[in-house]
Amino acid sequence: MRSRYSAYALKDENYLLISWHPSTRPESLDLTDDTTQWMGLKIISTSESGVHFVAYFTQDTLNKDKVYALTEQSNFAKEDKWYYLDGLDVNTVQLTKNMPCPCQSGKKYKRCCALFIEKD
Ligand SMILES: [Zn+2]
Repeated sequence: MRSRYSAYALKDENYLLISWHPSTRPESLDLTDDTTQWMGLKIISTSESGVHFVAYFTQDTLNKDKVYALTEQSNFAKEDKWYYLDGLDVNTVQLTKNMPCPCQSGKKYKRCCALFIEKD
């Protein structure tokens, strides 16, 4: 999961494809024009074959002065190694300082994840 996050940050399409389960893998992945800047990852919870996480980003095609949070339940399948299967409950929100932090800490965003991501 963390390695796939890093691969997205580095736009490493090859790693993303080989770590994707063949049953759900797209034929190709083109991140060339992707303007997403990934700023941080926080794991909300894990289960035997899944990770519920929040990833923080900015994107030029959205409001580039704002930070967004993507939450997702990623599911993995183990064969010879772990493969990414699919992502459920995918949700993106624009962050505001006083909103409840999307990492579900119970704190306000400004007192929680805002402190560890790169942009203020
Ligand atoms: Zn948080």
